[in-house]
Order: sequence, then C-alpha cells, then structure tokens
Amino acid sequence: MLTHPDPALKQKAADVDPKTDGGLRALVRAMAEAMYEHQGVGLAAPQIGIQKRVIVFDVDDELHALCNPEIIERSEETELDEEGCLSVPGISVPIERSQRIVCVGLTLEGEEVTVDAEGFVARVIQHETDHLDGVLILDRVQGEARKAALRTYNEVHSTEGR
Ligand SMILES: [Zn+2]
Repeated sequence: MLTHPDPALKQKAADVDPKTDGGLRALVRAMAEAMYEHQGVGLAAPQIGIQKRVIVFDVDDELHALCNPEIIERSEETELDEEGCLSVPGISVPIERSQRIVCVGLTLEGEEVTVDAEGFVARVIQHETDHLDGVLILDRVQGEARKAALRTYNEVHSTEGR
C-alpha cells in the first residue's frame, strides 16, 4: 500500500480498455486483497502503484469493480462526514461530499454501467475516483483543518518503526 507523501499518489491515472487489457482481473484481485487486508471499504489502483483508472469497493459485502469511472452527476445537497484513507493511515478529516451521484464506467467485461449511489456508497465512489486524479483527502481540506491533519499525520508516522 502506497502512503502519503508517495509521489505516485499524486499522478493522474490512465484509462483502461477491458477488452484488450488482459491484466485487469489480476489487478482487481490484488486490489481487493489489499483492501480487505487493511479493512478498507474501497481502493483505487494507484494506491498499489498501478496508474490505471480502476476502483474497487465493498460496502454491502459484495465486491464491486469499476473501470474508467466518471461521475457525471452530483447532487447539490452535500454531507459532511469524517473520512479516512488507507494511503493516509491514522487520521480522518471532515470532508463535504455530494449526497447523491451518478457514475458511469465499464465492467471488467467492458460493458457500460451506470451506478446511481447515495450516502456512504456515493462518498466511497467520490473518494476512490479522486485517487485516479491524484487527489487525496488532505487535498479536500483547507486552512487550519489541513494543517492540523498534516501535523497529526506526521506525528503518527514519525514515531512509527522506531
Ligand atoms: Zn483513499
């Protein structure tokens, strides 16, 4: 699992073509393993060092994988909630997200799918698609909240492994 401040987490990942990319199934398997191992609810490929636009999530005891996810609709209504990230371990920050989203993407078979999600699932999809654009939860908070989060993060990680 790559963690902040790894520069790979700041890159924009590339679109995939499930019809021709034979490695996607193995990639999704590796992502799911990493996600479950760390008790996460979602993961994006860049978090394990693969710059491809693939996300997985599991909020209902079912593994979902989406290729090239794109959020095409976001509700104006938002929700503020604490959010953590496997790549920024040890902290959580309050982040405002759309309450409801519509996301389009491709299945591993290359079929087009539309995901209409709200609440926690909508939050997870927004979080994971952020990763594909190199955006972390730390980039979603500003000012004092960001400074405080970074301070806590650096404290937690400077004492680790000593
Ligand atoms: Zn994350």
